[in-house]
Amino acid sequence: MSWFKRETGDVATSPENGDGERRVRTEGLWVKCLGCRQPIYKPDLEANLNVCPKCDHHFKMGARQRIELLLEPGYDVVDQGLRSTDPLNFHDIKPYKQRLRKAQEETGLDDAILNAVGMMGPHGVVLSAMEYAFIGGSMGAVVGETIARAVDRARTERKALIVVAASGGARMMEGVVSLMQMAKISTALAQLDDARVPYICLLTDPTTGGVTASFAMLGDLNIAEPGALIGFAGPRVIEQTIRQKLPEGFQRSEFLWRKASSTPSSTAAT
Ligand SMILES: [Zn+2]
Repeated sequence: MSWFKRETGDVATSPENGDGERRVRTEGLWVKCLGCRQPIYKPDLEANLNVCPKCDHHFKMGARQRIELLLEPGYDVVDQGLRSTDPLNFHDIKPYKQRLRKAQEETGLDDAILNAVGMMGPHGVVLSAMEYAFIGGSMGAVVGETIARAVDRARTERKALIVVAASGGARMMEGVVSLMQMAKISTALAQLDDARVPYICLLTDPTTGGVTASFAMLGDLNIAEPGALIGFAGPRVIEQTIRQKLPEGFQRSEFLWRKASSTPSSTAAT
């Protein structure tokens, strides 16, 4: 009688391994760091809050994880159930409706944003976190409306507003409707400012396009993750337009911090 009994069939082996030698699959346990190119043991990365333990590279983080990390247990996720109506009935290589469905299935979210109300230490806050995995964190009508609701909630409940930006910009599949969100959120933020309720924006990798051009730069305090790409047009587009090589670290947090620290602006890199 054997001393060891396998409960779930055979050990999984690599499919290319045809020589009979058995190798246990380890995929999914290691990730390659985009900063130092070293393999990182996933549990080590998670224990270090998605920051590379070897080079301090900040990995992308989903909206849910961001809320979980920033708020004390017992927070409420709010303003859910809004979904895009595809106002332009947009098709490119595939229908926008299909892209939306896929993104909803993959992320479990209605759109590229999640609002929550809870405590950050002793402070009650309204937190709005963007989800880059949902069509590049792009801003359409649902993202705009959800952030506007977070702003209004912060104003009426007199709780500080924190927005975590992670976005490729406006959502082209919603055309002018997505551009209108810039004005809509900016107007709500002006009212929040009049009410003297603080607004902090955390810029993560990447924060670009219409998001940078509106609420991401309107914080009373703008804080950026190290090494985050922050800009309006991407560096490649700028380089091709002006036909000049851009300086090292262009549009990264530290570069912007150096440029901004010579002005009275409060933009800061942590
Ligand atoms: Zn690294």
